Amino acid sequence: MNQMIKILVIEDEKNILNFISSVLTSQKYQVISAVTGRDGLSQAASQCPDLILLDLGLPDMDGMVIIRRIRDWSSTPIIVISARIQEEDKVQALDQGADDYITKPFGNSELLARIRTALRHSNRLQTEAALANRPYHSHGLTIDFEKHLVTRDGQEIHLTQNEFKIVALLAKNSGKVLLYDRLIEHIWGPYSENDNTILRVNMANIRRKIEPDPAEPVYIFTEIGVGYRMAEED
Ligand code: CA
Repeated sequence: MNQMIKILVIEDEKNILNFISSVLTSQKYQVISAVTGRDGLSQAASQCPDLILLDLGLPDMDGMVIIRRIRDWSSTPIIVISARIQEEDKVQALDQGADDYITKPFGNSELLARIRTALRHSNRLQTEAALANRPYHSHGLTIDFEKHLVTRDGQEIHLTQNEFKIVALLAKNSGKVLLYDRLIEHIWGPYSENDNTILRVNMANIRRKIEPDPAEPVYIFTEIGVGYRMAEED
């Protein structure tokens, strides 16, 4: 059951990393790891882990900075693992957005219990958010966020995962302009190339699929040099 759950471990001490990896693997969690803050941030963005275990004392970056950077764009649960025991470090880590804190040395049952709690909490938040996730409707276009389903005049339209993410973010903010940078960061993470080409390519594909006439869009409008705006709901 844990097989689908991916955990990113950011830890530079090999023996601790190996210990955590073997504990998690034995419980059928999928484990990815990084031994530097830089690599950790890049994997957090590219791999979309369900949970992050983060050592605060990394060779290249302060763990607090990593928490802040991840929280700029993601609500993935973060559990800090650290030898630091001062209360102020704990408060600061939680204040920056970490979900929990576990002090070295710790045993496997404590580690697993913390992970289960953090995952349960994040699932509950998603479920509550989903209740407010009613579908978007505009001129025959329907976007069902829960089912990841897009239809136009009742016909299902197949979008790739990233295309769906772009459309969903625009639809949830319908009527508002979303900046190119904001969209790029949301879809590809903050460390993606700050280049609009890939977004433009995705948008061309989206328009080809959802617009009756891609040259005269009625659902997603371009605000030149700024971003995109989705038509308001009916
Ligand atoms: Ca360390």
